[in-house]
Amino acid sequence: MNPDLHFKIFTLFPGMFEGPFNESLIKKAIDKGILTIDVINFRDYAFSKHQTVDDTPFGGGQGMLLKPEPLIEALEQNTGMGKNDEEEIILLSPQGKRFTQKDALLLSQKKELSIICGHYEGFDERIRDYVTKEYSIGDYVLTGGEIPAMVMVDCISRLVPGVIKEESSFLEDSFYNGLLEYPHYTKPRNFRGKEVPEILLSGHHENIRKWRLKEALRRTLIRRPDLLENRELSKEEIKLLKEIRNEEF
Ligand code: SAM
Repeated sequence: MNPDLHFKIFTLFPGMFEGPFNESLIKKAIDKGILTIDVINFRDYAFSKHQTVDDTPFGGGQGMLLKPEPLIEALEQNTGMGKNDEEEIILLSPQGKRFTQKDALLLSQKKELSIICGHYEGFDERIRDYVTKEYSIGDYVLTGGEIPAMVMVDCISRLVPGVIKEESSFLEDSFYNGLLEYPHYTKPRNFRGKEVPEILLSGHHENIRKWRLKEALRRTLIRRPDLLENRELSKEEIKLLKEIRNEEF
């Protein structure tokens, strides 16, 4: 059976991926044949005597850099080099575009995603010529691209149809619709004197929908006002935001 999405991860540390992809939703999706994840050690494509994958920078300076040959050889032998629309060759780097839920949604619609995990001080600049996208998972520097690759695979996978049982459950996740998610409550109704908001017990679906939208807007306005700056607000959202501003400020 052809998987819906095929990941190929290019790394020097394949052992790091054993735990995360052998548990939970990702494992189930692999077992169901929805996802395939190949972890490729690009050291196997280094043909020098000592299988060297790194070298010192020209011009001097700290640390070692990934050499271009083994990685590009590994890409050429295992991918279509990003030559069709259904495939992306992704380089992980703190200098890339910040990875967002929107990117995850677009990438979840592809057939094949190859992800390159950097290491050491960085990589030879010419590697960039062979990639179709470059992503950072945030404004901080990690020792390697392995953890960012796990973050991306996890985030993209849950958007592939069939990976999450209740697909509608991600439609209200934070960021999916440009807002942070509204607050949730479960049993007991009263926890140490703190009551669940009455409206959630009312069974009135329209009032609950409105309450949730208002609380999602309130949360976003207070915690992440930047998310509202580029949002096209509906008439209802404009009205609710006015109420929230009167209540909060
Ligand atoms: N000297 C590099 C720089 O300043 O851009 C950082 C190198 S970092 C120690 C080694 C590798 O870890 C990077 O090549 C990249 O693959 C990965 N990495 C580190 N931080 C990352 C981030 N925030 N997002 C994505 N990948 C990251």
